[in-house]
Amino acid sequence: MDVVLLGGPGAGKGTQAQILQKHFGYRQISTGDLLREHRNGGTELGKAAEGFMKRGELVPDELIIKMVEGELRDDADVLFDGFPRTVAQAEALDALLDARGRGTPGAVYFQIDRALLEERLRGRWTNPRTGRVYHETFNAPKVAGIDDEDGGPLVQRDDDKPETIKRRLDVFEAQTMPLVEYYGRGKSHRLVAIDATLPVDEVTHQLIHALGLEHGH
Ligand code: ADP
Ligand code: AMP
Repeated sequence: MDVVLLGGPGAGKGTQAQILQKHFGYRQISTGDLLREHRNGGTELGKAAEGFMKRGELVPDELIIKMVEGELRDDADVLFDGFPRTVAQAEALDALLDARGRGTPGAVYFQIDRALLEERLRGRWTNPRTGRVYHETFNAPKVAGIDDEDGGPLVQRDDDKPETIKRRLDVFEAQTMPLVEYYGRGKSHRLVAIDATLPVDEVTHQLIHALGLEHGH
């Protein structure tokens, strides 16, 4: 089953998607990572998205939906990370999956308060090449500024600065929170809430349980 990871910026979606991808054979589709690749590569989409990202606003639905459609193949189950972020995106995802005979996705809501999200984003360091993330106090690399796995440099994201963080959290509350109701209401959708304030391995444990992965995937 495909799974939507739903939660505010900094909730730990990317951290968990990387772990589940490594150990359970899922494929992570992170719209944030894909957009940053487009931006860094200077593609048309990257140029169109850049201003929205810099301001902490959402990139228009039609651009996002087209990008995700281009990523869908008939292979592993997908973990959607940072997508959908609006009801229109969620409806489009249902249609895209349905057209491919994949059924409706499950959804996991990462429950966490706004103050902790801010703290997580303020201390986040990312490997821009692989998308792997660290936190300077909660989840520190062995050597500051260096990825434990590939030795590559870690950077702080441009949009992880205080004013942009605030804007992104406002946008999340206004435009993405309605998806909790979207995924919670229907018979065909399944929504599970997890406590995203716990340490990384405890959040992974809850996900393994929620997705029924105890005996592999
Ligand atoms: P998202 O993908 O939801 O925006 P990230 O996975 O990038 O969130 O995590 C945001 C920040 O919080 C990163 O610095 C990451 O290292 C840290 N982090 C992620 N999960 C946890 C956790 N369970 N406990 C403490 N810090 C975490
Ligand atoms: P993220 O890495 O998920 O925090 O996303 C970084 C930025 O990319 C967001 O602040 C948005 O500007 C943009 N973005 C990522 N995913 C989406 C999406 N599904 N819809 C709209 N904008 C998105």
